[in-house]
Amino acid sequence: MVGRDLNPSDHPRKEVRRVLEKWAGRGWKLRKEGHWGKLYCPCGAECTTIPVSGSPRNDGAHARRVDRLASRCPLPPDAPNRSLTGRSRD
Ligand SMILES: [Zn+2]
Repeated sequence: MVGRDLNPSDHPRKEVRRVLEKWAGRGWKLRKEGHWGKLYCPCGAECTTIPVSGSPRNDGAHARRVDRLASRCPLPPDAPNRSLTGRSRD
């Protein structure tokens, strides 16, 4: 993981912001990286990372893409190790 933490509310586009808020609420981390940021799933760097554009050409399509990719993370919401993943690394 590189870059500083971002908040979903930092994203300039409403539709993308909503998706980021949804996944951040499930323990995903958002970092300043690439064109805008990168979403990291709660099970670690080996699982799912999703690039998030700060200026997508189509807000809705980008939001849906992020949402779909995030849903591939295999860690279920009630996994026992989820409680270990919500902590900050800072
Ligand atoms: Zn995962």
